[in-house]
Amino acid sequence: MKHRKEEIFRKIPSVNRLITLIPDEIKVEYKQGFLTEIARESLDFLRKKILAGEVEDFDDDFLKDLFLKFLEKRKIFNLRRVINATGVIIHTNLGRSPISEKVAEHIGNIVTGYSNLEIDLETGKRGLRYQNVEELLKRLTGAEAVCIVNNNAAAVLLVLSSLASGKEVIVSRGELIEIGGSFRIPDVMEQSGAVLREVGTTNKTKLKDYEAAITENTALLMKVHTSNYRILGFTESVSGKELVALGKKYGIPVYEDLGSGSFVDVRKFGLSYEPTVNDVLSGGVDVVSFSGDKLLGGPQAGIILGKKELIEKIRKHPLNRALRIDKMTLAALEATLKIYLEGKELEEIPVWKMVSQPVSEIERRAEKLVQKIGSVKGKAEVNIEEVVSEIGGGALPLETLPSFAVTIKPKNTTAEKVYRQLRRLPEPVIARIKDEKIVFDMRTVFDSEVEKLADSILEVLKKD
Ligand SMILES: *Cc1c(COP(=O)(O)O)cnc(C)c1O
Repeated sequence: MKHRKEEIFRKIPSVNRLITLIPDEIKVEYKQGFLTEIARESLDFLRKKILAGEVEDFDDDFLKDLFLKFLEKRKIFNLRRVINATGVIIHTNLGRSPISEKVAEHIGNIVTGYSNLEIDLETGKRGLRYQNVEELLKRLTGAEAVCIVNNNAAAVLLVLSSLASGKEVIVSRGELIEIGGSFRIPDVMEQSGAVLREVGTTNKTKLKDYEAAITENTALLMKVHTSNYRILGFTESVSGKELVALGKKYGIPVYEDLGSGSFVDVRKFGLSYEPTVNDVLSGGVDVVSFSGDKLLGGPQAGIILGKKELIEKIRKHPLNRALRIDKMTLAALEATLKIYLEGKELEEIPVWKMVSQPVSEIERRAEKLVQKIGSVKGKAEVNIEEVVSEIGGGALPLETLPSFAVTIKPKNTTAEKVYRQLRRLPEPVIARIKDEKIVFDMRTVFDSEVEKLADSILEVLKKD
């Protein structure tokens, strides 16, 4: 046996000989170093397979195919599209909000050529890069002024650095949050040079707690949206409006980190009330910031809105330049905001489309999937079940939306094994496992993905 293995090992060609086996059109298409790397990878793989006893012999065709397989693998991007069958609409690990096709088309058009990013087309002189989206945001929200940065974490850092560095910021203990990816309010505060002044307790903070903490050193009263959790039971917190009244009394501005910032009142989808950006601003809050890629359904960005005088200060801070957004984001943001201005968000922004779609539509999509994978019945138990979807992205953590899922219980193998294979496909499928079944919540699967999802399920189940 050992002897046999040695014999096969001796047959393994050199990197250069392997390259002579591949078709000429491939040889001329890529540079030598790239081909050498792939040849090396192929031969390493071959050695491992021989050692494991999985390859007992091979010929030139086998080697050529192996090389071509590794070449194909190289062509797959590391960051690629996945099918989200989790039912979590704003899934932090899956890129949060998908943007609409229309918006993507606009980005493509802008970045594949030149644009008027910083030129005023009227005068031919240098223009301001944010002017256009600023006007749109003002119109949509009634804000006096706007500043846009890379994400909401950057927005919080910039607001605190420019309005409160070296001074105190009063925050309720119930709002000292940590968001995924270790964004912690106390740490951001420290980084900004502002001094955190915690008031109240975890479950109860009263207006008089804030008032008692005010000194001549207080620069801001801050309210943080408790995005990814809720304190339930015996609780009390101070509304933005009450804070505004207190701020006015002492001449201290109020800043609200709204987190997910929505332009749409979610009550119409049977969800409980969440203040919209407009509600917060009309309540008198001086500065508000939120993400572009949570409930807004646009690109990653941090949007800061508020009173002109304060926003001016924020814009002038040197950090603003370091945190600025690029033209792709700007293009995406403008196109997204235009959809809101036209009132078409429920049809055109994927996040709102998914939130607002009737369950009957989801059920129909589930039926379509079941129909397409019908031939797999011998290998698995396939069912349609009622499930609940989540908004995700730290928005409305306790709220769910009724939905339908296709569940698959494999007969000859485990759900985990099948799911692992689904995750490893060129276009991976992300789902959930529950009670030995793979659960595909059809709320977050696009109509255009149903066919692909069916093919993937069939491909994987046929293998076992
Ligand atoms: C999500 C969130 C942030 C961070 O926003 P990013 O856009 O992810 O940087 C900050 N504060 C709150 C309350 C959030 O929900």
